[in-house]
Amino acid sequence: MDFEFNEEEKALADMVRKFAQKELAPNYAKWDREEKFPHELNKKMGELGLIGATVSSEKGGMGASHVSEGIITEETSRGDCSLTMSTFVVGHLIASILEQGSETIREKFLAPFLAGDSLPAFCLTEPGCGTDAAAMRTSAVKKGSSYILNGEKSGITAMMDADIALIFAKTDPEAGARGVSCFVVPTDYPGVTCQSYADMGCRAIVRGSIFMEDVEIPDDFLVGEEGNGFIMGMQGFDISRILLALEAIAPAMVSLEETIAYTKERNAFGRPLATFEGVSFPIVEHVSILEAVRLLCYKGLWLRDNGKSTSQIAGMIKWMAPRFSTNAIRDCLVLHGHYGYTQEFPFEQRLRDVMAVEIADGTSQVSKLVAMREIFGREYLPYNYRNK
Ligand SMILES: Cc1cc2nc3c(=O)[nH]c(=O)nc-3n(C[C@H](O)[C@H](O)[C@H](O)COP(=O)(O)OP(=O)(O)OC[C@H]3O[C@@H](n4cnc5c(N)ncnc54)[C@H](O)[C@@H]3O)c2cc1C
Repeated sequence: MDFEFNEEEKALADMVRKFAQKELAPNYAKWDREEKFPHELNKKMGELGLIGATVSSEKGGMGASHVSEGIITEETSRGDCSLTMSTFVVGHLIASILEQGSETIREKFLAPFLAGDSLPAFCLTEPGCGTDAAAMRTSAVKKGSSYILNGEKSGITAMMDADIALIFAKTDPEAGARGVSCFVVPTDYPGVTCQSYADMGCRAIVRGSIFMEDVEIPDDFLVGEEGNGFIMGMQGFDISRILLALEAIAPAMVSLEETIAYTKERNAFGRPLATFEGVSFPIVEHVSILEAVRLLCYKGLWLRDNGKSTSQIAGMIKWMAPRFSTNAIRDCLVLHGHYGYTQEFPFEQRLRDVMAVEIADGTSQVSKLVAMREIFGREYLPYNYRNK
């Protein structure tokens, strides 16, 4: 067993940390206030080969390990956890699905995404169903060499800036989850409209709804096989939930580091705040818990790199990471006194942004359901249980 990153991983962490400190952290508050997606930074991250890093080299990616993908996510999130959510967490879902597409899909949509030239959206949730995603109503009907799509997807990260949407739609409404297929829909096609939300956090990656009215797309915009969409999405969540956890932990760890430094400098009652156990013990508790959850994240990614299932670990850390990270950031805010409550400090923004992780990619409840399925057995799931 080895708890250290290897030399290549350390170099990657160092490179991404420097990039995030120089390019992301100084603009974190600005992009939030302007509600502006920084396309130019996406481009730079594409040029560095950071986007969709696990895509194999034959398919245009770097063929990096999932542990490396975790390092990229954690380090960029130390600079800007909001941008990290769209580029690396949603980005993982997008890349892992487009990678399974035909050559046309890979050339037309995956390559520009990896280069940072295109911003895709991942569109699963609907107004009538989120947790119970298989109950979706969006339809795709084959007509000659086209599909006609109708429906609405809601709550979608970066929808307002996206140039393509990965749409999950029913091609066989009678077949439940097995009747779901995945399509690429360019957002400038006739019949597509979008509408934004005013969110409390992650405001630079403006969420929105996409409405499709008789949208006609060529049949080669189907990704993979008909009926395979749901399974591709769920497989992606087994990794994206771990990346989301790292995304939440990173700003909490930075907040703790800043608070440790601050409480060593700031005096009260003639001594540094850090010398009061009422100040240092909560910080020690947060560091202990977050370090443990962080290690579980890397264990999950290591499991995937070694061909093992990550469902249980992903379910476990997806509820723990945002809960413990928001607890830590809130205490850091309070330990900075009234200054901490201002927008001069990043704590209020980090708190708003990290709360998104409680809901995105499935809420804490559904994450526990996933872990419970692995721990208790599938037959004990509430929707599978039958009285004998
Ligand atoms: C910041 C953010 C980004 C997002 N980005 C995307 C995106 O890019 N693409 C996308 O498709 N979606 C996205 N979503 C939507 C997100 O995936 C859904 O909001 C989430 O899956 C929950 O679905 P819902 O909102 O419909 O809530 P519901 O499913 O209606 O659930 C409401 C509440 O009931 C609870 N609940 C439901 N079923 C159970 C159960 N069986 N047991 C216990 N509790 C239960 C839920 O946990 C939740 O608290 C995003 C959401 C947020 C907040």
